[in-house]
Amino acid sequence: MNVPDTPENMTRCICPNCPTYNDCMTAGKQALFCSRGKSSCQIDSNGCICGECPVADQYRLNDLYYCEP
Ligand code: SF4
Ligand code: SF4
Repeated sequence: MNVPDTPENMTRCICPNCPTYNDCMTAGKQALFCSRGKSSCQIDSNGCICGECPVADQYRLNDLYYCEP
């Protein structure tokens, strides 16, 4: 199911709490990668918490690491 790119979903996205989330993503106010697509930042994978996210639950997402190029 496609995830709408809405302010509400941005607020519900838990990416900023994720161990993989980094300063580059913070600086760019990046999140909601499952809707907006991969990050433009370089990423070191340190785990993905999308599985705990209310957006993933609502839209029945099963993948991880939506931020990764
Ligand atoms: S599923 Fe992942 S990328 Fe999508 S809103 Fe949740 S934490 Fe963010
Ligand atoms: S998509 Fe997954 S790995 Fe990337 S920042 Fe969001 S929760 Fe973390």
